[in-house]
Amino acid sequence: MRYEGRLFRPPSEADALIVQATIGCSWNHCTYCDMYRDKVYRVRPIEDVLDDLDHAARALGPRVEKLFVADGDALGMPMEHWLPLLERARARFPRLRRVSSYAMARNVAAKTDADLDALARAGLSLLYVGPESGDDVTLKRVAKGDGFAAHVEAAARAHAAGMQLSIIALLGVGGDRSREHAAGTARLVTAMDPAYFSALTVTVVPGTPLATLRARGKFEVPEVPALLSELREMISLARPTRAVFRTNHASNYLPLAGVLPRDRDRLVALIDGALEGRVPLRPERARGLLCSCGGRSSRRARGRRRALGHGHLRADEQRRRGLADGLRHVERERHAQRRLSQRVGAGAP
Ligand code: SF4
Repeated sequence: MRYEGRLFRPPSEADALIVQATIGCSWNHCTYCDMYRDKVYRVRPIEDVLDDLDHAARALGPRVEKLFVADGDALGMPMEHWLPLLERARARFPRLRRVSSYAMARNVAAKTDADLDALARAGLSLLYVGPESGDDVTLKRVAKGDGFAAHVEAAARAHAAGMQLSIIALLGVGGDRSREHAAGTARLVTAMDPAYFSALTVTVVPGTPLATLRARGKFEVPEVPALLSELREMISLARPTRAVFRTNHASNYLPLAGVLPRDRDRLVALIDGALEGRVPLRPERARGLLCSCGGRSSRRARGRRRALGHGHLRADEQRRRGLADGLRHVERERHAQRRLSQRVGAGAP
């Protein structure tokens, strides 16, 4: 398995095999994001990607149940790459039950309905979309590239093709538009109606345009109570049909898990408890702020991510390690996620 540069994946793909079919992000403009700034976007030759899948199959074949296709907006890859990739994955991994990738709304817009149907039939079953906010002013400020309406349209078309959506909101990204950001995001969650909804907390990463704005006094991350209030507002107002909800990303102050709308009252009560000081927050030193891949920045967690082939590794280091070694750590990661879910009162996704 060959990897280039830093790898990122959602927390719920901690136990997935990652295949890097594209390098970087075709957009690469979001002001808060540094994930792929060191990469020039390109689609890898499909023969190399298929070789990687063959290699992984020899080492792990019967054990791979989830495949995450990287990098940042892999849905944008041409159909002539997607279809052979999905066909090879089905052929090589007999227990494969989920293939997922990050996607921007514009990636969905660039595919025809027939393309989306073909991808879903071939096994692409889950798209991770990060609108971050449902407030169009905020979306413009952070250069997200797609607005509220584009996200709703993308969700409707992905659903029509039979794909599930996991959507991500970013607490604090609205800055002084905290209230509008929270209310707009709740409306967007309702309109996109995802199967999974998670919230992360914005991190001002050095070297990003957002860091420049903060240095000039034009952006500030809201205080912790305001971040919790945003979360409360989103949970209270969002009306998805049934969405597994998580704030288990290491950037968050309050890890929560549940299903919306079923667990709304319990989750709101926990947030109220945190606002009143009765429910402890994750200490600042325990928050992992290096990246959006779900890992913490502690030495132990970095070691765990390395073993999985995830995280901040040089490609040669990743090659040496090999994925077979990683499976032992997959089990540990699963246990850790289960323990977290039990602690906050709901099952892992
Ligand atoms: S947040 Fe996503 S879409 Fe925006 S630049 Fe980063 S990877 Fe690309």
